[in-house]
Amino acid sequence: MDLSNKNIIHVKNGDVEYIQFRRLLEYKDKLAHAYTLKPIDLKNKSKDDINYKKICMALGIDNENVIKPTQTHTNNVEIVVPDSKSTDFPDVDGLITNQKNKILSAVFADCNSLLLYDPVKNAIGNIHSGWRGTVAKIGEVAVKKMVDVFGCNPADIICCIGPSIRQCHFEVEDDVKALFLETFKDETIIKIGDTKDGKQKYYIDAVTAIKNMLIECGLTSSNIIDCGICTVCNNDILHSYRVYKSEAGRNGALMCLI
Ligand SMILES: [Zn+2]
Repeated sequence: MDLSNKNIIHVKNGDVEYIQFRRLLEYKDKLAHAYTLKPIDLKNKSKDDINYKKICMALGIDNENVIKPTQTHTNNVEIVVPDSKSTDFPDVDGLITNQKNKILSAVFADCNSLLLYDPVKNAIGNIHSGWRGTVAKIGEVAVKKMVDVFGCNPADIICCIGPSIRQCHFEVEDDVKALFLETFKDETIIKIGDTKDGKQKYYIDAVTAIKNMLIECGLTSSNIIDCGICTVCNNDILHSYRVYKSEAGRNGALMCLI
């Protein structure tokens, strides 16, 4: 199977497979990036694990420079500086930097991946936006921090949205639906599903909610690039928590200024 489409390419490099955004590849002399596919699994892995070594080698970057926060579904976004190390980032779900050779890493199993790049200020962000982070607007927190810390103009920031559970499979009940409505005040992101076991089900379009939020932050719609891929629909090649529960591995997004 090849996941390539108008926004991404699917790369096979030996036994390592990953996707890359065509838009970010326009800056490949400044920036390395990838979103990993199976069999790479970055669940609970350190920078020295063979999985990190393989993907970093494929990208031509040094796995020693991986910075991996301990993600806990917060909206905490922190800045990576020259002497930062992974243990500096407990309870952190987004990293930003303008430093070269710092590999910002985040892992996912259905949650949304936001890769941010400002080619003018040459600053990046790698954000884990699960549904809890999404309703806490971690994407907005990250953009505002890039503006405050690096002087970015939101209109210059590119946001690439990685594979995630899409509306076709993001079935929730009243509690989660209510949180999305409270945050985004947008009925159009919610599709009413069937009643199962006496409970009304809903399908949420979290990606559209994120896109609209980013536009409100000042990003242009042409700078928001969606890979359009559902992790549940493509669980043969992507790790999915909905499908594999506690057995699920993790897909990884890596981004590094070079
Ligand atoms: Zn799906």
